[in-house]
Amino acid sequence: MNPRMPKTDPMDRTSGFLKKNLETMPRKKRLDYLNQKLRGIIQYAYKHSIAFKAKMDSAGLKPKDIQSIKDLEKIPITKKADLVELQKKNPPFGGFEGVPITELKRIYVSPGPIYEPGEMEYNELGWAQGMYAGGFRPGDIVINTFSYHMVPFALHMVDNSLQRVGCIIIPTGVGNTEQQVNILKTFKATGFCGTPSFLLNISEKAMEMGLDPKKDLNLKVGFVAAEMLPESLRARLEEAFGMVIRQTYGTADVGCLGYECLQKSGMHIPDDKIVEIVDPETGKQLGPGKTGEIVATSFNKVYPLIRFGTGDLSILTETPCSCGRTSSRLIKILGRVDQVTKVRGLFVHPGQVDEIASRFPQIQRYQIVVTRKAHKDEMTFRIELKEGETSSEKLKEEVERTIREVIQVRGEVVFIPQGTLPEGARKIDDQRTWE
Ligand SMILES: [Zn+2]
Repeated sequence: MNPRMPKTDPMDRTSGFLKKNLETMPRKKRLDYLNQKLRGIIQYAYKHSIAFKAKMDSAGLKPKDIQSIKDLEKIPITKKADLVELQKKNPPFGGFEGVPITELKRIYVSPGPIYEPGEMEYNELGWAQGMYAGGFRPGDIVINTFSYHMVPFALHMVDNSLQRVGCIIIPTGVGNTEQQVNILKTFKATGFCGTPSFLLNISEKAMEMGLDPKKDLNLKVGFVAAEMLPESLRARLEEAFGMVIRQTYGTADVGCLGYECLQKSGMHIPDDKIVEIVDPETGKQLGPGKTGEIVATSFNKVYPLIRFGTGDLSILTETPCSCGRTSSRLIKILGRVDQVTKVRGLFVHPGQVDEIASRFPQIQRYQIVVTRKAHKDEMTFRIELKEGETSSEKLKEEVERTIREVIQVRGEVVFIPQGTLPEGARKIDDQRTWE
C-alpha cells in the first residue's frame, strides 16, 4: 500500500522573479548600475589583488581609467592558461584572490589544475536567478547530481543557490544511477540539477527498473549545465519526464554567465557579472549579433576576476525578452575559441593529450577524436606506434587508465597504422555536431 501522489503541480512556476528590481531594470538604469559596480570592483581589486594590479600596471592603467564597460577594452584579457601559469608561479591563487587565505571558507580544485578560493559568505546571484527563471520554487525537493568533491560547482555554486531559492536539497552527487531513481521516487523529488547526459542515464535506468519516468517519478524542473544541450535531447528528456529543462552557462572561475528563462530565448546575463563578446584576436568588443569570445568580469571581492576569457564563442542579443527580464542574452554557446574543448563537461587541453602520450615511449603520433553518439560524448585516442613496436591489449589498457587519470574522462584507445595522421594534425579533433 503506497498510493502514488497524483501528478499535479501546485506551484506557479511561470511568473515572478528572484530579484525583480534588478532583473527588470530599464536598459539605461542597468548600464549605470553595472558601470558603478565595475568602478567599485576595479578600485577594490587594484588594491587587494596582486595579479590584477600587475596587469593594470603592465598596461599603464590606473583604476580611474576604467569608468565604464567600454573602458574594459583597455585591460588585457586573462585566459584560463594564464591562470594556470600564474598559479604555478604564485600559489595557490596566482595573486588573483582579493582576501587573505585565512578569510576563506573552502579551497576548490579544478582540472588544470586550477585552485579557486571559496568565500565565507556565498552571495553570487546568477545560478539562483537561473533556477528561479527556469521554474524552481521554494519547497522543491531537488537532487543535485553534480560532483561534490574538489570542484566548486555542486557544493559551492549549485547547493548554495538552491538554498537561496528555498529548495530542499538531496546532495546525491554523480553516479549510483539506480539509487538516484529510488531517491527520486521515495521523495517525489520535483527538481533535478546535473548534466543532460546524466538525466538521460536516469531515464534509461528508470525504464530498465520497470518505471515510467513520467508517471512514476515526479520531476517538474531541471537545471542543467556543464554540457551542450542539443534541442533534440532537451525535447526527448522533457517528454520522457513531463518536465521543463532549462540550461545555464558559466565557469568554475567566474560563476554563472547566462541562464535560460522559460521563453528559451537565449541565456540572460545575471546582474552580478559583466559579459563582453570580443574579437578573440584583438580583445575589442563586438556589438550584438556578432560571434566572438565570451569575456567575463565578476564583482566578487574574494575572487575578482576582471576580463576573464572563457574561450567559448557566443553571440549577444539585446532584443527584449517576453519574460520581462531586461538583461542582454547570449544566444547560444557556439564552440571553443581554440583547441581546448569540453568532453562530458570537462575541459580537455591539448597539453593533457601530450602528457598522456609522453608516458609511453612507444607512441609516435597521436590524436584525440571527440564524437557524439546517442547524445553522449565519446572520446577516442588514436595512436601510431614507433617503428618496431607492436600493439597489445596490455598497452591499450595502460593508456586507457592514463587517460582517465589525466583527463578524468573515459577514452577508448585505437591503434592506427603508421602514417595515418598527417604532420601537424590537431591534438584534439572535435567532430561533434549539435543539431
Ligand atoms: Zn527571458
